[in-house]
Amino acid sequence: MGMDAYIGVGHGIKPNGTFDPGAVSRGLVEHDLAVSVVDAYSDAMRRSGVKVVDEGHSGAGHDPNFVGSARRANEFRVKYADEVHFNAGGGTGVEVLVHPGTSEANKAACRAIAAGIAKVLRIPVRRDRGLFVTSAFGFLKATAMPAAIIEVAFLDSAADRRAIRRKDALDEVGEAIAEARCAFLGVTNKPPVRRGVAIAAAKPTATKRRAHAWANSKQCADVFHDIIDAGWRHARKLGIDPAVFVAQAAKETGFGKFGGVIDASFHNSCGLKTTAGGDNNDPAAHQRFADWDAGTLAHCAHLALYAGAISTAKAKEVGDPRAFDSIHGVAPTVQELGGRWAPSTDYGRSIVRDLLRPLRRF
Ligand SMILES: [Zn+2]
Repeated sequence: MGMDAYIGVGHGIKPNGTFDPGAVSRGLVEHDLAVSVVDAYSDAMRRSGVKVVDEGHSGAGHDPNFVGSARRANEFRVKYADEVHFNAGGGTGVEVLVHPGTSEANKAACRAIAAGIAKVLRIPVRRDRGLFVTSAFGFLKATAMPAAIIEVAFLDSAADRRAIRRKDALDEVGEAIAEARCAFLGVTNKPPVRRGVAIAAAKPTATKRRAHAWANSKQCADVFHDIIDAGWRHARKLGIDPAVFVAQAAKETGFGKFGGVIDASFHNSCGLKTTAGGDNNDPAAHQRFADWDAGTLAHCAHLALYAGAISTAKAKEVGDPRAFDSIHGVAPTVQELGGRWAPSTDYGRSIVRDLLRPLRRF
């Protein structure tokens, strides 16, 4: 088929339909982090003219023993195959796993991958200059081409977690892997033009059905399905990406389980305050809406206002209680919501990393 590279995402949906998150530590989920890395890695390879097969559906098409991934890589007769994981079990730093029988060129490429990741995350390389030679893994044994399992960093190490959460860290990891793999293929690596996920979009970046299935995999409350249904068309009408709306609603409502200062009776999918505003811990400072239709419309309008997709007057007209000129267009990307929509600078990044990218690939 003439494909060059196979890029797998560690863990995901198992053959029996249940979700295997991989390692989980302090709010970070291995599979979801791997999705972010693979997004950036695949984008960089495609930008550089490399034909990539990547796993598009939470690992659908492969099983956790990697046999399915290896089979697909073999079917596509790619020039090399990688699978991206995060480590756990005590330790710090990056290591890249290869089979003892792999080529010297692949070993050199994998050391370059480890060195590149260590540089951008400022973490150590492990074992033999980042290389872990092992015959214990199905993916490495069953692939008929140079292959690697990339263990980016340790989720149970505080230092590694801090590194993972730094600005653009996962994009930079993906780009570092791409740089080493482009060199392996003898291809010129093209750096990114601009980072960040746009809030405004002419078309949704995921299907509504996928959003519902993803929410179920996260054990959402039933009401979260109503929130998705109500907000989806409002987002489209206002010119923003409904997938961004869903990801933000998931963060703000805890997948419809609430449990914070307001409950579902507010029909408030994003913690919007009243025009007067007030203390974060005061329920009365938060806007009550008549139903999810009204609440999600105001949410979408507020988000569209941040993105600059609609005017302040339009946001006010459709019921945004906090439609102020001062926020118009201040956050064209989801990442830029950090420190603006919410005080935490990680706010937008975590929506992209923990929710939006996994949803898009589900
Ligand atoms: Zn793993």
